[in-house]
Amino acid sequence: MSWGLVWFRNDLRVRDHEALLTACLEHAGRIIPVYVFDKRQVGPHARTRLGQFSKCSTPRAQFLVEAVQDLANTLRTHYRGMQLLVYKNALPENVIPKLIAELSTEKQVHVGAVYYHREVCSEERAVEDALRAALCALNQRGELPAVTLRALDGSSTLYHADDLPSGASVGNMPPVFTSWRKLVEKGARIRAPLPMPDPAKVQPLPLSLGCDPIPTCAREVIGDNCEQARLRHRVPWTLPDDATSRVDPRHACPFRGGESAAQERVQAYTFGTDAIARYKATRNGLLGTEYSTKWSPYLALGNVTPRQLYAVLRRYETERPEKKGISTYWVLFELEWRDFFRFTAMRYGNALFWRRGLQAVLRGDPQVAGPSKTWRQDAVLLDRWQTGMTGFPLVDANQRELLATGWMSNRGRQNVASFLTKDLEIDWRLGAEWFESLLLDYDACSNYGNWQYAAGVGLDPRADRHFDVIRQARMYDPEGHYMRRWLPELESCTDWSQVLHLHEHYPEYPAPVVRHLHGGRKNLDDAANAPKCSVRGTKSGSRGRRQTKQTGKPHREPGWMRQAHTGAVDILDNRDGSAALEQNRQTVLDAYLRSQKR
Ligand SMILES: Cc1cc2nc3c(=O)[nH]c(=O)nc-3n(C[C@H](O)[C@H](O)[C@H](O)COP(=O)(O)OP(=O)(O)OC[C@H]3O[C@@H](n4cnc5c(N)ncnc54)[C@H](O)[C@@H]3O)c2cc1C
Repeated sequence: MSWGLVWFRNDLRVRDHEALLTACLEHAGRIIPVYVFDKRQVGPHARTRLGQFSKCSTPRAQFLVEAVQDLANTLRTHYRGMQLLVYKNALPENVIPKLIAELSTEKQVHVGAVYYHREVCSEERAVEDALRAALCALNQRGELPAVTLRALDGSSTLYHADDLPSGASVGNMPPVFTSWRKLVEKGARIRAPLPMPDPAKVQPLPLSLGCDPIPTCAREVIGDNCEQARLRHRVPWTLPDDATSRVDPRHACPFRGGESAAQERVQAYTFGTDAIARYKATRNGLLGTEYSTKWSPYLALGNVTPRQLYAVLRRYETERPEKKGISTYWVLFELEWRDFFRFTAMRYGNALFWRRGLQAVLRGDPQVAGPSKTWRQDAVLLDRWQTGMTGFPLVDANQRELLATGWMSNRGRQNVASFLTKDLEIDWRLGAEWFESLLLDYDACSNYGNWQYAAGVGLDPRADRHFDVIRQARMYDPEGHYMRRWLPELESCTDWSQVLHLHEHYPEYPAPVVRHLHGGRKNLDDAANAPKCSVRGTKSGSRGRRQTKQTGKPHREPGWMRQAHTGAVDILDNRDGSAALEQNRQTVLDAYLRSQKR
């Protein structure tokens, strides 16, 4: 009887795991579990394409390491010492065929099939193709008997693609979320989660195999390749060594990776604290563990599945009828957004990453048509946004939280994304890559899909959506509790009414980098002689012109900022972009530090 090799990917769990269960059923429980830290995604040299940011910084790498440790423990304890074979800084398409060949020739263990869950986006699918090609090549050279590749859908979505009604199927889906949602809510069912394989029927390999030791911390997989390590010594605010959500006491939630922690979090948010019953009212919060579910990091790594969550929501409604309200539906609604982005990625493929986005596809020929928006590529402004030094406190607080912990609330994400794309008019893909580097819950479909929305190049029927970050701060952090937590320069601030002038009263806090005029971005340099203006609330996302208020005060701009502006480089048109950017960042920092000393 042959063995089934289960290749774990973003599905680090044993429950509701179609690949694991199918492998057990088809191989009478003879299972070899494998996990590879793919060096293109999580490794000492993995970098994003445009911005050259670390592809996986410390918080997520740490969360991932914990999830792998947890999976290894679960397999060992539930399945009589079963060993999870782990490989670091490696490529699945090299490691897996080599392992299968060695097992066959040296241990007389024949692997009949490799089981895994199919992914959606091109980088992940390319790995699947490379693995298939490598196994075929070995087979053709006679070095390996035939091995079947069993790609399964798994439970990464709430609705299974096969269960979508015809009008909402992947090939046919309407491009607007609301239309799609109405169709699926009416015509699709949600499958029950699968059980974990019965321990009595699982057989671990009766020998120990050589592989890498399971990493104990992020540094063992990414080394110093993280944005925190690069920025720690040059941001003028505290960024702890090996920043993670647990190390930094200002965290919103002390995230720990893994299926066990996911179950604890789901239990705590539902039956534990009943916070779920208040979700609709609290979901736009910025501070604390309970304003939203915080399930996204676990979903991203597959520590829990949307179908398991749905089952818990239904059970909660049944067992706590007195708490039943709109909130459980609202969480389901958000999970449907997640599905929508995933099915959109299946449908439109790489358009998810195009500068002109899915709008280009909808408008016809993707190469020719599409909005002709020109994005700025100002390295200095980008750097100020990344390091939480824009002079707009809501943006800065959120960006610092992200850098220090890997977490940012949904409200925060919408604001910082709108600010980057609509106020600074910087290429949205750089923002998306920054999130890719840092977010604990990074998920290609949700991340790039949401960024396209924010930038107005997605499937959003309202492409002019804009968040007024001053007004948003007034609405969602009126007392400034959140901003004070992350901005020590403004620790004693109690009056948030003159946001554009905070630096005049708190000199350590930077002056605003722009006047925040949506659609007419102006550097302070450009506007130095213009009368001061502050934005007064036109409705967020409104089409109307913004009103300005004359204050008559002369504008004063610190010298270091002028220097920063003149030092800007076009990082994408520059062949040696990353080196120039780094040099430029250093110039900005030096100027900033000099200005602080004076
Ligand atoms: C610019 C930008 C980038 C984003 N990048 C990501 C990302 O990389 N990964 C990610 O999971 N989410 C992303 N989101 C969506 C959303 O911000 C997070 O899912 C949410 O903040 C996670 O917190 P939570 O689990 O407490 O969510 P809750 O509010 O409790 O929602 C429950 C679940 O619904 C899903 N969900 C909620 N909102 C969205 C949404 N807008 N899009 C897709 N799914 C949603 C998530 O799986 C979430 O866990 C992004 C949003 C924006 C505006």
